[in-house]
Amino acid sequence: MSHEAINDLARRIRPEFPLLAQEVAGQGVVFLDNASTTPKPRSVISAVTAYYEQCSANVHRGVHKLGAESTRRYDEARLEIASLVGARPDELVMVRGTTEAINLVAHGLDLGKDDEVVFPASEHHANWIPWRLHGKPVPMAIDCDGVPQWDTLKSLITPRTKLVAIGHVSNVTGAIAPVEEVVAVAHEAGIPVLLDAAQSLSHLPVDVKKLGVDFLAGSSHKAFGPSGVGFLYSTRDWLARFPLYQVGGGMVSLNEDIGVGGFTPRDAPFKFEAGTPAIEATIGFGAAVRWMRAIGMDHVRQHDVAMAKYLVDGLSDIPGVRVLAAKLPPERRIALATFVVDAPSMTQENVARALCDMFGVCVSGGFHCTHVLHARAKLAGTVRASPHVFNTTEDVDRLLEGVREIAG
Ligand code: PMP
Repeated sequence: MSHEAINDLARRIRPEFPLLAQEVAGQGVVFLDNASTTPKPRSVISAVTAYYEQCSANVHRGVHKLGAESTRRYDEARLEIASLVGARPDELVMVRGTTEAINLVAHGLDLGKDDEVVFPASEHHANWIPWRLHGKPVPMAIDCDGVPQWDTLKSLITPRTKLVAIGHVSNVTGAIAPVEEVVAVAHEAGIPVLLDAAQSLSHLPVDVKKLGVDFLAGSSHKAFGPSGVGFLYSTRDWLARFPLYQVGGGMVSLNEDIGVGGFTPRDAPFKFEAGTPAIEATIGFGAAVRWMRAIGMDHVRQHDVAMAKYLVDGLSDIPGVRVLAAKLPPERRIALATFVVDAPSMTQENVARALCDMFGVCVSGGFHCTHVLHARAKLAGTVRASPHVFNTTEDVDRLLEGVREIAG
């Protein structure tokens, strides 16, 4: 995609985001922190407010008209989310987000302390810490830029390996994992694969059946939807085998009195969905999926590839700036760059703060929930810029101008 094409697409989309009309530091905000969470388009905001205004009622319970309408909108959203990832609605457990989805798998596999889980050392804490509590962590080596050494995977698999858990896209380098190869190696040894799609869901076409993964975890808020909701995809087979997770209302078909009988859980996915769900957030997530599909995930990806090149090349050209995994070609990454600015007496958090305070550019600064990656790469923090489909090359130019000034 040419620069004009990137900008045409972005300019067409931008007016749909009320957030982008704001001023920061006396100029229009440049939002480059989408890897943390994305802004929400008006159609998502409207879907949430319409629920409040038109049918604010509980789902799967009410016999009245409003309850029927909220249930219809909720179930429709679940269908929409499932179809985005090529799954059936009954293969999705609605949870709070990627973190809860991974914790649900960790709990469901019922791992003993010698059961090994293989995952790259560069993973987000959401796909690191659960393996410290459940099973035994076997972190895969990473290079000095935080990119996993995928060719070591086979050597890490032992008779005690119970799961291979990988991020689809690194939230630090933006690198896309070789999912099909990982699945082939793991499945050859009879080991299931969990894919953390937190960073890929809004950037790449994701199809669970094509990828062949056993578990997929995703969050709405990084894909233009509200926070507080996400999903775990798995096969009916796995979900049927998983033990109960949280219990309460909504997940039982019958609870008999003590001395009379026990309780009867519903089938998956409902047996994992105790309590009132995040109704309006799920409806908003459905609207976000419709919004992304209307743009077309292929268009989003084309924008991403062109933007990745523009961003990484631009930052790499600035003296005193080191971009992680700068040599990784745009086709193998998303539009995300993590970098270190050599600015005496400034931490990388301070660089990120200065970019906002002086230039109106919102980026992340710190460790991005990847302490081990930063420790192994000997980095005392980094700055991360993560554009998305509504960003123009001029947005990136403002970032480059700010970084140039700070590094200088
Ligand atoms: N995995 C990755 C790669 C992430 O970037 C994040 C969010 N920063 C998570 C997991 C956790 O997602 P959530 O906070 O929505 O549960």
